Amino acid sequence: MIMYRDLVNAFTRLEIPRVTPVIIHSSLSSLGSVNGGARTIVGAILATWSQVLMPAFTYRTMLIPEQGPPNNGLRYGSGKEANRLNTPFHPDLPVDRSVGAVAETLRSLPGSLRSNHPLLSFTGMNVQPFLDAQNLQEPLGPLRLLYEQAGWVILLGVDHTANTSIHLAERLAGRKEFIRWAALPSKVVECYNIPGCADGFLKAASLLEPVTRSVPLGNTWIQALPLKEMIPLLVVRIKRDPFALLCDRPDCERCQAVRTIIRHRSGGH
Ligand SMILES: [Zn+2]
Repeated sequence: MIMYRDLVNAFTRLEIPRVTPVIIHSSLSSLGSVNGGARTIVGAILATWSQVLMPAFTYRTMLIPEQGPPNNGLRYGSGKEANRLNTPFHPDLPVDRSVGAVAETLRSLPGSLRSNHPLLSFTGMNVQPFLDAQNLQEPLGPLRLLYEQAGWVILLGVDHTANTSIHLAERLAGRKEFIRWAALPSKVVECYNIPGCADGFLKAASLLEPVTRSVPLGNTWIQALPLKEMIPLLVVRIKRDPFALLCDRPDCERCQAVRTIIRHRSGGH
C-alpha cells in the first residue's frame, strides 16, 4: 500500500522547486492502493508544491446542435441523448469522472479556486493568475501562462493522452481547433478554440523522453516535464509534420477534420 510518506518522498525526488507552478494529471486507480485515497495524494502534493493546477473539465455541459459550421469535428444532430442528460455549468459542478478523483478532491477543498469555463475549467491552490488567464476565446490561457512562467507538467500514473499541455503546442503550431457549445444555467454559450483529440498523444513519448524525469511509485511511474522544454519540441514536430500526434482511429471526427484542413491548405496553394 502506498502511504503519504511514499508520495512525498517520490515527489521530492523529482527535484522540482516548491515555488515552481505545476499542473498535475493523475489516475487514482492506476496507482493501486493508496492509504487514504485521493485526499492523501492531494495532501502530499500540497505539501510539496505551493502553486498547483489540475484540470476540472466538465464535458457533460456540452450540447450538440442540429447544425453548425462545417469541418468542425462534430456530427451535428448526433447528441439527442447526451443533450437530454446535459448538466449546465456552475462553479460547484463536480469534475468529470474521466478527469479523475484527485482533481475533484482538490476542487472541493476549502480555499481551492476554479475558473468558470463551462467545458475546460481548471482548479487549484494559489493559482488565481492562471485561472484569470482563461476565457471563452482562450480556453488554454492557464497553460500558456504556466509555460511562460516555466511551470512543470506532472503525470501521476497517467500517460501523455492525459497531458493537456500538448494541446498548447498544437495551438502554437497553428493546428485547427473547434467550436463547441455548452450550457450555463440561463443560456447556451459558444466556446472557441477548443482543442482536438488527445488519443494520439502517446506518440509524443519518445520525443519527450530526453526532457522527462521519472520516479517509480507503487506499480507505476511519476513523470515530470518542464513546459519550457516540452512545448518547443512539440511545436517543431507538428510544424515539420502537420499530421503528427493525430490518432489512428478512422472514425475520429476531430483528427479527420484536422487532416482535411491540412490537405486543403497544402493542396490549395
Ligand atoms: Zn483522434
